[in-house]
Amino acid sequence: SEFSGPLGDVYDVVIRRNPGEPEFHQAVQEVFESLIPVIDRNPQYLDVLTRMCEPERQIIFRVPWIDDSGRVQINRGFRVEFNSALGPYKGGLRFHPSVNLSIVKFLGFEQIFKNSLTGLPIGGGKGGSDFDPKGRSDLEIMRFCQSFMTELYRHIGEYTDVPAGDIGVGGREIGYLFGQYKRITNRYESGVLTGKGLTWGGSQVRPEATGYGTVFFASDMLKAKGEKFEGKKVLVSGSGNVATYAIEKINQLGGTVIACSDSSGYVVDEKGIDLEILKEVKQVRRGRLSEYVELRGNGAVMGTGSSLWHVPADIALPCATQNELDANDAAALVRNGCLVVAEGANMPTTPEAIKILQGAGVGFAPGKAANAGGVATSALEMQQNASRDSWSFEHTEERLRGIMSSLHDNCLATADEYNAPGNYIVGANVAGFVQVADAMLA
Ligand code: GLU
Repeated sequence: SEFSGPLGDVYDVVIRRNPGEPEFHQAVQEVFESLIPVIDRNPQYLDVLTRMCEPERQIIFRVPWIDDSGRVQINRGFRVEFNSALGPYKGGLRFHPSVNLSIVKFLGFEQIFKNSLTGLPIGGGKGGSDFDPKGRSDLEIMRFCQSFMTELYRHIGEYTDVPAGDIGVGGREIGYLFGQYKRITNRYESGVLTGKGLTWGGSQVRPEATGYGTVFFASDMLKAKGEKFEGKKVLVSGSGNVATYAIEKINQLGGTVIACSDSSGYVVDEKGIDLEILKEVKQVRRGRLSEYVELRGNGAVMGTGSSLWHVPADIALPCATQNELDANDAAALVRNGCLVVAEGANMPTTPEAIKILQGAGVGFAPGKAANAGGVATSALEMQQNASRDSWSFEHTEERLRGIMSSLHDNCLATADEYNAPGNYIVGANVAGFVQVADAMLA
């Protein structure tokens, strides 16, 4: 076993019970590593941990839909309802060809601790489909979403399970999903989904929240080191929802984002990524970064190295997808004097890369802490829906800022308490776990 004693026995059972799920194993192993001293001090937590690794409910369903040529296509839908100790299951839906049970379970498992860390009353869940939205027409997306919801609706509800977006699911998809839910149930149940549009129950700052939150968290990390974003060069991987608004907030704080990426490669723009052009290419045209280079001119080029992490910079925010930053990339960041890495995506840094960064004294924040601003603002959307109210942008952003600061300070204080000063992984896992475990015991 990776672990000795009773914790090792529990770990072995979890691995054996879930064969062929490497991403889920990776997420579980990272949490177990942090919990060794917690279980030592409080042996009664061991049984709770065993229960926590088994999802309360796992739903897998067929999603048939008709493509533009009139053929019936089949995809697989998932919803893993992992833990409801703190509130209704809460977590996004991911539409991407890589989605399988292992991916949904790793995301759902992480979501339990992340949601706990926000301090808001939300449990953990995740879902999605292996559907590939790339190249699909608007009508195909609509028919897929309607079919997906035709099965999912019976499992969700504002007091049961509240999905939102993730990779491949944004405002457009949430609109199609909400419309179908409303039609099937004959209920205007705003609180059943988050990430809605502003005219039909959505919250200000929700589109920006994950990216803004990650930058807020990173700036608190920098502050703890006596540093700030102003005047720093920053790498942001991805160019979707999280990356776009991370870049926006970095610009507001006086930093310069010199590279970002998509599935076709990465762009280096030493004068700073032009956000208007990026939004035009990625949000309006749903195009590739090569179009950014064409529109931008001004010295922007497509990168030719193995990844953007080799471009010299002070701060790195991986905001694309799981395991996108490996040991080789981490070594390059260390060589180039990187100060801080904060995860905007879920588990984008491999375990080997994390060891290299931490070993070299680079500040490292795991996604369950650094990207919690998205789901926290989802919980604020649920609050507004429940009180039939809507808040201003300023008020909502202030709430988000406060939540991220408390979360950051809670991670550092918990890490200190467990003799791991500055270790945000230990802080996040322990603080997230203890709250859920105590609720389960009660
Ligand atoms: N998909 C986001 C996450 O990974 C947001 C989930 C939500 O808002 O429910 O946390």
